[in-house]
Amino acid sequence: MDKYNLILLGPPGAGKGTHAASLVRELGVTHLSTGDMLRAAVAEDTELGQEARGYMEAGELVPDELVIGIVRERLLRDKLSSVLFDGFPRTVAQAEALEQVAAEAGLPEARVIYLDVSDQEVVARLSGRFQCRSSSCNRIYNVRNDNLRPGEQCPACGSETYQREDDQPEAIRRRLAVYREQTAPLIDYYRRREQLTEIKAEGDRVEAITARVLAAAREGAAQG
Ligand code: AMP
Repeated sequence: MDKYNLILLGPPGAGKGTHAASLVRELGVTHLSTGDMLRAAVAEDTELGQEARGYMEAGELVPDELVIGIVRERLLRDKLSSVLFDGFPRTVAQAEALEQVAAEAGLPEARVIYLDVSDQEVVARLSGRFQCRSSSCNRIYNVRNDNLRPGEQCPACGSETYQREDDQPEAIRRRLAVYREQTAPLIDYYRRREQLTEIKAEGDRVEAITARVLAAAREGAAQG
């Protein structure tokens, strides 16, 4: 079976969650979204959730040690060998830590797919975005494309849908600023290492963009 170590990189609202769902379906990779993991911890009010909540609501990054810790634990505990990271790494320190943990877990070198989207498009997408509250579904919708409003039932699983606290205008602005300062340097970091594939992720049908993402991901396959 092919092994994957894929990273979806891009600003909030670039479509990471949406394309991740296709990659899981087509390649059988395990989806590791640190945002989903942290939101689940907040909902369950675990110690981790209590530490992370304030940062998340303000649109700030949760401290590196916490995030690296949950990723490491999940990779090693479940002996994952084919993985798609979504929303991780978000800082150079996380990228360096991931390299070590990935080697420990026997994953191949990471292939990074950078979803390039303009700020204007990001704001338009995020302010209309909402999602399913069920942690086993987490389906993402947008008032621009879906005939559905936040608070209505998820057509996929019947749970309630809701708008994330951090998709309110003030937090969106903060998240974009945080992305530019702390996460965007990873584009050059991975480009220099020749691990990056850039994909223009707007102005086209979602299916067309997904096809490009899939092709880029397949190039990163390692025989295992
Ligand atoms: P996301 O769902 O990926 O947009 O993440 C939502 C929020 O969770 C972010 O705004 C951060 O507060 C936190 N978060 C998720 N992933 C990370 C990460 N890799 N490093 C730091 N904070 C993160």
